[in-house]
Amino acid sequence: MKSPLIALCGLFVLAACDQAPQNTTSDQNSDPASVGSQSLEARADKLAQELLIADTHIDVPYRLHKLYEDVTRPTVDGDFDVPRAFAGGLDVAFMSIYTPADYEFEAPGKATAHADQMIDLVERIIATAPDQATIAHSTDEVMAARAAGRIALPLGMENGAPIAGSLDLLDHFYKRGIRYITLAHSRSNHIADSSYDEARPHDGLTAFGTTLIHAMNRMGIMIDVSHISDQAFWDVMAESATPVLATHSSARHFTPGFERNMADDMIKAMAAKGGVIMINFGSAFLTEAANGYNKRRDTAYEAWLEETEQEASAELETTFETRYRAENPYPFATLSHVLDHIDHVVEIAGIDAVGIGSDYDGVGDSLPVGLKDVSAYPNLIKGLLQRGYDEAGIEKIMGGNLMRLWRAVEDHATKAQNDATAPANE
Ligand SMILES: [Zn+2]
Repeated sequence: MKSPLIALCGLFVLAACDQAPQNTTSDQNSDPASVGSQSLEARADKLAQELLIADTHIDVPYRLHKLYEDVTRPTVDGDFDVPRAFAGGLDVAFMSIYTPADYEFEAPGKATAHADQMIDLVERIIATAPDQATIAHSTDEVMAARAAGRIALPLGMENGAPIAGSLDLLDHFYKRGIRYITLAHSRSNHIADSSYDEARPHDGLTAFGTTLIHAMNRMGIMIDVSHISDQAFWDVMAESATPVLATHSSARHFTPGFERNMADDMIKAMAAKGGVIMINFGSAFLTEAANGYNKRRDTAYEAWLEETEQEASAELETTFETRYRAENPYPFATLSHVLDHIDHVVEIAGIDAVGIGSDYDGVGDSLPVGLKDVSAYPNLIKGLLQRGYDEAGIEKIMGGNLMRLWRAVEDHATKAQNDATAPANE
């Protein structure tokens, strides 16, 4: 999810085939079985199928919550369906169990009930095609799913509001499959301050937030630092015994002042403890042009609401967005900008520190040219090859870094639980 204003607007743009033609490799006459004889496209396609590709943030459940369709079959709308995921070589697609920030403040239990419904939707996908998809609860289950030719759909909770200050509810959601929690969303909540919220009532993590971090460490739930304030990030770094990840954030270096992205010192500190930043593909996360466009549009939307004396609503927002876009063409980023973010993280923090968190189905019609949906990962691999990454590096970026981090979190939990059950030695 990006800003509350354009999130999930559901406008679909066809997968981009409009990249400039690329040079093929020159050694066409050598052994056709060798990788070097293949065109770059063919090599990228092959790698996409061979490597484990993991994307840590895809907003399918909230899309289905608004309008259910069977994503195990080709769909016209949206950025994800299982056939396109298979075409793109996607192995692990974290389903975002997203809860709107306001729910925490509207009625007791509302956020929790909503999150349960969102998980029901993922279970419905799996019940529709158990031979094609499964919720993976562990890295071992991911590998088993892959061996069986199924896509793994692990669950990440976006916004910790459904936890409602209760470790019993944390346990409930762990049992239902939640394996990471994004502590807050667009408003500061009972766990942490939000980067999108001007109000910072807690100056970082709350006391319950600290308790929650320790419990997540013990249970083997990954901590997602996307969306939280900088101070909350530093509090998490001080408290977490395991590496943390940003499931869908990009580098602030390219969007100065945009706190939702990560500053260089944060990326370095996270990487020094084994953490990983997963690059968000939304154009507003990638370039200042698109980021500034959103700010201007938000201002215009608010002015229009005031002028016409209307209350903000999702419908009005869509109406306004369509008209605004017609009058002000959107400055789409490109695949090349995504590569710039990856290069930057590698440069400052190393090849182990970066991964993919597209935010497909969560950023509306703002995806970059060349990366319009889940069939496009081969384009990204081709771009990495063109920028000189070797296959070992590409393997880490496309999924290896996520799997390493997840295993570290699982190992820590196993050890913590063993220590807790070991006979007391007094
Ligand atoms: Zn989000």
